[in-house]
Amino acid sequence: MVDKVVLVNTLEQGLDYLHIGAADQNLGLVTIVEALHTQGYRDVELFPDKPYEVTPNGIVEENSFRESLVRSVGDAKNVVFGVSTTTDEYYKFLFVTKVVRELFPNATIVAGGPHFAREVLIDSKGNRYKDPIEIALQEQLADAVVVGHAQPFVDFVVKHDGKLSEVKSPGFYYMSEGKIRGRGKGKYPKVSQLPYVKPYNRLIRTLIHDGCANGCDYCSINKGSFNIAPEIVISTLERVIKEQEIRFLDLSDSNPFKPETFKFYQEIFGYLDGNDATRTIKSSLIDPSLVVDPKQSEELMMFLLRHLFLTCFFGRECITGEVASKIGAKLRGKPKSQEQLDKEREGLRDFISFISQFLEGIIKYETLRGSVCISYIFTPFETEQSVVDTIKEMEMFHKMSSTQLTVDPIFTVLSPYPGTRIRAKYIDHIVDPEDFVKLGVRSNVWSYDLGASVVFLDEALDVLEKLREDYSTSQMIKELKLAAMRGFSGKVKKPKHRRERNFYL
Ligand code: SF4
Repeated sequence: MVDKVVLVNTLEQGLDYLHIGAADQNLGLVTIVEALHTQGYRDVELFPDKPYEVTPNGIVEENSFRESLVRSVGDAKNVVFGVSTTTDEYYKFLFVTKVVRELFPNATIVAGGPHFAREVLIDSKGNRYKDPIEIALQEQLADAVVVGHAQPFVDFVVKHDGKLSEVKSPGFYYMSEGKIRGRGKGKYPKVSQLPYVKPYNRLIRTLIHDGCANGCDYCSINKGSFNIAPEIVISTLERVIKEQEIRFLDLSDSNPFKPETFKFYQEIFGYLDGNDATRTIKSSLIDPSLVVDPKQSEELMMFLLRHLFLTCFFGRECITGEVASKIGAKLRGKPKSQEQLDKEREGLRDFISFISQFLEGIIKYETLRGSVCISYIFTPFETEQSVVDTIKEMEMFHKMSSTQLTVDPIFTVLSPYPGTRIRAKYIDHIVDPEDFVKLGVRSNVWSYDLGASVVFLDEALDVLEKLREDYSTSQMIKELKLAAMRGFSGKVKKPKHRRERNFYL
């Protein structure tokens, strides 16, 4: 019998580079609480109330962290800790699990989250690299690892009373007799209400339907698709939005309005029409391929405006067919052609000008402003021309901003996350593939043998670092132009030693 489950959140500041603001809770862990409650298990606690700051040197206010953790566990004997992490937050995971081990040597630590994916990585010289599960189990950072969604964790606690060797559910991994046992990915658990992170400035974040058939090679959304029953989504949203006077609703769904699932959202938001949920300002990701066909795009725009989806996030990623084929930026499993990418650019332009005119002309309320965010990924496969053209495109979109609509391009640097195809494809060009502390969206782990583009990535990361100091988009574009000139000039010497990541999320 498990006396208590303590779920430890390592996500501290939100994901600002993706325009996902800070929240005190982690949606994955909230989902586990909901799933355990649904099974009648209630001795579960989210820890801490507000995430602690963790730097490369350790947990800030570590004594307070330790004291609160001891208080959370109380006098429970058989305790299971669930610790979730992304690759970007991995260094925090290491500090947190170390403290948990020291304080509670007899407790069971189960790791999970997007960082943990199985993979077979062998370079051209025949060197084999460990995956995150092997590292976590062999180095005893965790006693078990969940890959995929949380059903195996729920089974471990509820059905198997915390006995590792009894869990046969897919997605549950542990060590026995020196070998890693386990297979597959965990399913999304049964929940009786929609999990959401608790209101933060009258905003809630949730995920109601996930999965994307495009299959991009760099995509780390690898858990498998699921959806929550519409009646559960509707009843939770109706109640929470009304009771807690919610103003903003963030959907984290990876590709919500694709043809296969658009109807699902039309039904849900159509049903919520006319009550408090209608008046919440919503934000969502949108696949740029959905604004290419004028008829499809118009239907989508009318839906978005009707339901106040006023913050739209487009993953434009790259602008040339060549880069798309190198990084596997795909549409329905096939790399995007130049023709498709050009159509997406034009579709986005029409989308922005339509939304802008609509907001200018029809919505006269001062407070109702829209925002379109377009994200790009700079890769080690850029040429000077592709970078210059990308920056020009960013500038063109940003200039479409109006009094009612801001248009902000943002960028990241290609990161070969665990489990992604791009990692296996370019393993020979990744420095220290097992060093997950260095891997992340703000790091450049690409080898300089790929050319000047990798020097440019260093320069681009410096721009990202400066962005933390409250830069405007126009300044970012200006800085990027200089970064491109420096990166491709041949004058910046490749550093003898790779630059350490010197700033953290
Ligand atoms: S379109 Fe986006 S969500 Fe879909 S596979 Fe590509 S990167 Fe992932």
